[in-house]
Amino acid sequence: MSDVTVRAPAKINLHLGVGPLRPDGFHALATAYQAVSLFSTVTARPATQWSVACDGQAGIDISGVPLDESNLALRAARLLAEHAGPAGTVQPVSLHIGKGIPVAGGLAGGSADGAAALLACDTLWELGTPRDELLTLAGELGSDVPFALVGGSASGHGRGELVTPLEDNGAWTWVVLTFGEGMSTPAVYGEYDVLHADIQLPDPEIPSRLVEALRTGDVAALAGSVGNDLQPASLRLRPALVEPLRSGLDATAYAALVSGSGPTCLFLCEDDDHAEHVAAALSAYGQVTVARGPAPGAEVL
Ligand code: ATP
Repeated sequence: MSDVTVRAPAKINLHLGVGPLRPDGFHALATAYQAVSLFSTVTARPATQWSVACDGQAGIDISGVPLDESNLALRAARLLAEHAGPAGTVQPVSLHIGKGIPVAGGLAGGSADGAAALLACDTLWELGTPRDELLTLAGELGSDVPFALVGGSASGHGRGELVTPLEDNGAWTWVVLTFGEGMSTPAVYGEYDVLHADIQLPDPEIPSRLVEALRTGDVAALAGSVGNDLQPASLRLRPALVEPLRSGLDATAYAALVSGSGPTCLFLCEDDDHAEHVAAALSAYGQVTVARGPAPGAEVL
């Protein structure tokens, strides 16, 4: 095989419930993920040395993407190679990332690269790694990586890596507002900890009405059940997000929320016409894209 290209989606958190800090330093999460139609690709090619390169699609700023051993796509390829057998079992690869997901935006773009690299290398090396083993490796790489393999809509427990598909019969339209400057996920969790310093956090849960809204595809019901426990912390660190969230609602979006740790903001709309109207009200704040969910998980192109 000469090369393999895999496409993987961005994720949004329809609900992000953050619970107590665990002994390993991660918070217990209960989240409802949805994959949306913003994609990155990873191409794996046989090579004599391991390497990774990255290009941005559609004006995406890739200056924050590390091109050393810390790159998640490269770490994924290395981890799968180790899993496959002793050194030399598989040939090194050169990886090329086509970034279609804004960096550090709360859309799990790095995780999508990791998931895409796992599947691309598994296919290139003809390993046929069982799905559950790929998901375990994905979970070792990062909390959001397993979901990028699975896609659709799904619950995430543990630190987010324990993923179970949710029935989703909706055709959801989101206006996605992204910004040039990303936010650090650890900084947002740090602020969350400050805000909850004296509070005993309950175990987080996904609202049953959200699960029901996905099953029935009811946009008003979904709008009433989305939520993000990290949002107050993100807004404290980036108060400039308050105004676009309000403007989206004023422009009749059904719901407005911060995606994951932010700063990307999400606006739930009825259909394309409605999304166009909401998008027009937001274009002064940042880059506006219309995305649809649920999108498929990582797939070989
Ligand atoms: P997180 O997954 O931490 O919630 P996020 O969804 O907000 O993050 P990402 O695009 O995954 O955003 O970026 C998080 C960090 O990872 C940023 O510092 C970014 O520079 C880095 N990053 C982005 N792409 C990659 C990649 N392919 N490999 C390694 N790091 C990456």
